Amino acid sequence: MSSASITFTWGSEEALWGIVVHGGAGDVPADARERHRAGARAAAAAGASVLAAGGSAIDAVQRAVEVLEDDPVFNAGTGACLNSDGEIELDAAIMEGDGLAAGAVCALPPFRSPIRIARAALDDGAHVLYAGAGAERFAVDKGFTRSSTAEMSSGAARARWEAARLVGGGASGWAGGTVGAVARDARGHVAAATSTGGMTMKKPGRVGDSPVPGAGTYADDAGGAASATGTGESFMRLCLAKTCTDWMRAGMHPQDAARSALALLQRRVGGEGGIILVDRQGRLGLARTTSTMTYAAMSCGDDAPVSGS
Ligand code: ASP
Repeated sequence: MSSASITFTWGSEEALWGIVVHGGAGDVPADARERHRAGARAAAAAGASVLAAGGSAIDAVQRAVEVLEDDPVFNAGTGACLNSDGEIELDAAIMEGDGLAAGAVCALPPFRSPIRIARAALDDGAHVLYAGAGAERFAVDKGFTRSSTAEMSSGAARARWEAARLVGGGASGWAGGTVGAVARDARGHVAAATSTGGMTMKKPGRVGDSPVPGAGTYADDAGGAASATGTGESFMRLCLAKTCTDWMRAGMHPQDAARSALALLQRRVGGEGGIILVDRQGRLGLARTTSTMTYAAMSCGDDAPVSGS
C-alpha cells in the first residue's frame, strides 16, 4: 500500500494513516467556532506529524491531546472547568488497540497535562486507572509537577462557575470542550485518548465517562478506536465507546456506528453528545446530537487538516 495512492476523505474506504480529534460536544457560540476549530486543526496537525514520520497511533493521539490540553479554550488541562468547590478535578484516558493496554487518571488534582500521566500509567502497566490522591501520588512519583486551580483555570471557566453558582449552585452544568483523539497508524494499529475537566459544578469526586475504558475511550485493533464527549453518566451506562468498536469489528462502517451510537444514547438513556471513530482500515466516523462538536481530521493524502463544528 503506498501513501501516494490513498486519499483520506470522509467515507473513503481505507487510509494508510489518519487521525481525528474533537474539542467537545456542546454549543459553541457562532463567533467563537473558528477559534475552536483552529485549536483542533493544530492538534490534528501535531498528531499527523507523528504519523507521517512513521510514529505510532498511541503517540499521535497523545500528542494531539497534549496540544488541546494546552489550549485554554478547551475544557481539559489548562482551561478545565471547576467543580462545586471551585476546584479543578481532571479525568483522562489513553488506550492502544494492539495489546489493549490502557492508562487513566480520574478526579486528579490540577496537573497541566493529565494525558501524559495517563500515558505514564499505561507504560508503567501495574494498574489501569488511578483516582484522586492516589493519582496525584502516582504522578508525582513519575516526575510530574502539581499545578493549582489558580494557575490553570481560565477566565471563561471561572465565569461559567460563577454563573452556575448564581442560579442555584447544586445542578451540574455541561461545560463542553472535552477533548479527544483517535488514530490509525501505518502499521494498522489504532489508539484513542480523551481528556476533560468534566462538568461545571460537578460534585467533588465525580468521575465521568472519559477516563473509563469502554465508556468514553476505547481502542481495539480488531474493530477500531473511539473517543466520546457528552453527558458522561449516559455514555457510562451504555459503555458506548466499546459498543462502537464491537460494531466496527462486526463490519459496521464507522459513520454508521457513530450515528447508531448517538441514536441509542438518546433513545435508551436520554443522553446527548458526540463521538469520533476510526476503524482498522482507517475509515472515519463522527456524529453529534448537540449543536456543535468541534473536530479536525487529517490523513496521509492531505496537505492540512480539515475541520468543522
Ligand atoms: N463526557 C464529559 C464528562 O461527562 C463531559 C464532556 O464531554 O463534555 O465528564
